Amino acid sequence: MKSARLAVATFAGNCAGWASQVAGRGRGETIRGRVLLAVDPSALSKLAANRDIVLVSGTNGKTTTTANLAKILADGTDESVSTSEFGANMTAGIASVLMQQPAHRLVVLECDELYLPAMYDALKPKVIVLLNLSRDQLHRTGEVRKIANLWQNTFTGDDVTLVIDRDDPFLEFAANQAGHVLRVSFGGRRHPDAATCPQCANLLDWTTGDYACNCGLGSTLAQVRADHRLNGPARNTVLAIEAARLMGAIVPVELASDLTAQAPDRIAKYDVSGVSVPTRLAKNPESWRGALAGITASNVILSVNARGIDGLDTSWLWDVDYSPLKGKTVICTGQRRLDAAYRLSVQGIAVEVAQDFAHAVEIAGSDVEAIASYTAFQDLAAAQLGIKGATGGRS
Ligand SMILES: [Zn+2]
Repeated sequence: MKSARLAVATFAGNCAGWASQVAGRGRGETIRGRVLLAVDPSALSKLAANRDIVLVSGTNGKTTTTANLAKILADGTDESVSTSEFGANMTAGIASVLMQQPAHRLVVLECDELYLPAMYDALKPKVIVLLNLSRDQLHRTGEVRKIANLWQNTFTGDDVTLVIDRDDPFLEFAANQAGHVLRVSFGGRRHPDAATCPQCANLLDWTTGDYACNCGLGSTLAQVRADHRLNGPARNTVLAIEAARLMGAIVPVELASDLTAQAPDRIAKYDVSGVSVPTRLAKNPESWRGALAGITASNVILSVNARGIDGLDTSWLWDVDYSPLKGKTVICTGQRRLDAAYRLSVQGIAVEVAQDFAHAVEIAGSDVEAIASYTAFQDLAAAQLGIKGATGGRS
């Protein structure tokens, strides 16, 4: 039963959301959630009561996996699912999703890594999917180890099932006090940020194509062993399928392999001067590695900015191996095109530099793909909508 306070808070939040929309200041989700929580600070747990909730967190792939999991869960249960649609993954955005009417029993929410402990407390989810932990933009979430420690201190009970990629030593560590863990392994990968053990700080032994440590981290066998050839989006789909099954969805084996084969990747096609340019969003070293591995065209545009959410510090460029670009025509653009060009030239990769995205496409010709940092990607999206001044990361 709804409390009177929650009813007032919901009304106030909705009014603020509508006002924000009418004023043309976006979709009004964040303001709706903020006003709700200002009027009723305990609204989150009230809105979450009697609902079956899944949270999705990790450094890369949260938005895509949340949408994918919501669809798999809806199809596999024949029920509607309430879910985050625009990547709003902090308290106010999550509150806004929970306010939506009709309020479905099943809920799939994207959750920022640092907000996960608070959301776990407030929402009492049934399942939490932990995709991966890697270095994000340096200025934002800081150390991977800090988040792994935070999570490890959070998940000490048996009231939730964690679904994790156990090949990530940070996730194995984060889950090692949790009562219920479904470990999925793909095998044969290394974690670029995990030379030492998150649990005891000794060097991890990676010689077997897996990690091992004298303290015992990594010795628990995975319940699910999946194909080691799967790429990042496909691996996240496997985790989503396991989470959906835990929530009661029926996902037959043949359907699961179809879903994995068609795993959604974050590729947008942008038309620039009559050329269609498949463009991947990459915002930290791990997503750059994934994006580079997916390139098939012979001409590649790299658009790097260091603005706002990108972070000013581009030292992460040095943590990525660019060898998939060898033998291709590479054009660097964006505000920090010279940083990118210098980094690639050190690795012996010939590059050209273009003053903006349109010029880069001119140099590249038709067989072209692009990788863009966050704001460069946003600029391209804005340019497609005809918003002036957005030309793919001009400095
Ligand atoms: Zn250890």
